[in-house]
Amino acid sequence: MALFMNWDRVSHLRTDEQSVLQDRRLRKYVRHQLPFSPYYRALFEKHKIGFDDIKTVDDLKRIPFTSKADIAPTVEDPVKPRQFILQPDEKLIKEHASKGTLAKILWGKLTQQDVQEKLEWEYKPIHMHFTTGRTALPTPFTYSSRDIELFRESGRRMFEVAGLTRDLTGLNGFPYSPHLAFWLSYFAMQTNMMTSLATGGGKVMGTQKIIDAIERLKMNVATFIPGYAYHLLREAAAQKRDFSSLKYLVFGGERVSEGLRQKVRELSAQLGAPDVKIIATYALTEAKTAWIQCTETTGYHLYPDLEVIEIVDKDGNVLPDGSPGEIVYTTLDWRGSAVVRYRTGDMCKGVEFGPCEVCGKTTPRIIADIQRSSEVREFQLMKIKGELVNMNEFYPLLSGEHDVEEWQVVIKKVNDDPNELDEIDVLVAPRHGVDFEDLKARLGRKIHNEVFISAQIKEEPLKKLLEQLGMESELKEKRIVDMRPKS
Ligand SMILES: [Zn+2]
Repeated sequence: MALFMNWDRVSHLRTDEQSVLQDRRLRKYVRHQLPFSPYYRALFEKHKIGFDDIKTVDDLKRIPFTSKADIAPTVEDPVKPRQFILQPDEKLIKEHASKGTLAKILWGKLTQQDVQEKLEWEYKPIHMHFTTGRTALPTPFTYSSRDIELFRESGRRMFEVAGLTRDLTGLNGFPYSPHLAFWLSYFAMQTNMMTSLATGGGKVMGTQKIIDAIERLKMNVATFIPGYAYHLLREAAAQKRDFSSLKYLVFGGERVSEGLRQKVRELSAQLGAPDVKIIATYALTEAKTAWIQCTETTGYHLYPDLEVIEIVDKDGNVLPDGSPGEIVYTTLDWRGSAVVRYRTGDMCKGVEFGPCEVCGKTTPRIIADIQRSSEVREFQLMKIKGELVNMNEFYPLLSGEHDVEEWQVVIKKVNDDPNELDEIDVLVAPRHGVDFEDLKARLGRKIHNEVFISAQIKEEPLKKLLEQLGMESELKEKRIVDMRPKS
């Protein structure tokens, strides 16, 4: 039996057919896989939910949400994430495995060794990614051998959605690390049989060599964190390089604002690639994959056979189709680490159903502008002068500003005195030929109106700022730096 459903078929099912499919797959998953999860076994018992009770997507409402706090390890409980890994044993298999699987074992069609090997292939964790975050300890999400096959398949689907075909050459510009972006890009290029180069990003291969590779190997597709891509394209443009082979820039790991798209497009035009397509992705470590736009204007195309996405309000009430709200994720297929009704904290403007007006696929699409919680909650929401400030607002404001080349926000104490008030410096390298005083006045007003704080805006030479950002030395550039002494 094939491991995955045929993507061409899944991506063209009618909405009502998708519902039937999701109900069936959810029923099967909850009945035969979820009992292998120590966390969900305990949760179902506590709330008196039977594994047979969840028959349709609508029944999901009976299951309490899972939050980051339930999964993230703490100093007191460092093994928490292990509770989310499916771990079948003999007793659990006898109680919960599907009849087909049991029959094969009981009727001796499989030897003891066959059974052992199959179980290990399906469940034994062999690979992992970590979530990033400053407040919580890094949380591992594990993949079994079967999951790696599914991971490849989801990478294949992503590229298929975006029209990235095997005749194109690909450069993986994500930082080499145990994070989803690098590995999904790696497997997607490999599974799609693209001739590809995994660079490991600026820290590993270095910007200069990556620029050389794009030009000399005539790369057609490049995957990047958008902030780093901008830096690399600017360097390449200054060197008057030829990137005319470049057809697609695929971005991950950060929100892509319209202003940044505009600036990236201008640089690409200078490099001889005026028609480069800038495609964004939405990745979720907990979902173990990512979703992609089929073109610059569409939403992120979901895989209805692999997950259920619910949209809820702040009290956790499920909202009708098309409503804006928080994205809640439930797996329908993963082994290894698996989550059900996971509250992402990511806010979207809604999910679109029916055929996509660009590619015709009928898979639901999450509208592209998503406010990520990973940026807000655990990293960028900071207490400044006693007020909570959403530092996330700085990204579109400064990266999207046409006359800003690079920027960094530094939070410190007045005179570096721990008892003093907080102050915010916005360090800016303006574009060549821009009047700084004029830019400073404009930015000051914008920051005041959109971030609701007052900040000192200071001019910084580009070279020095790039060093401070760690463009070539950090996995991810240091945009927001908190220099206040820890209390
Ligand atoms: Zn589409």
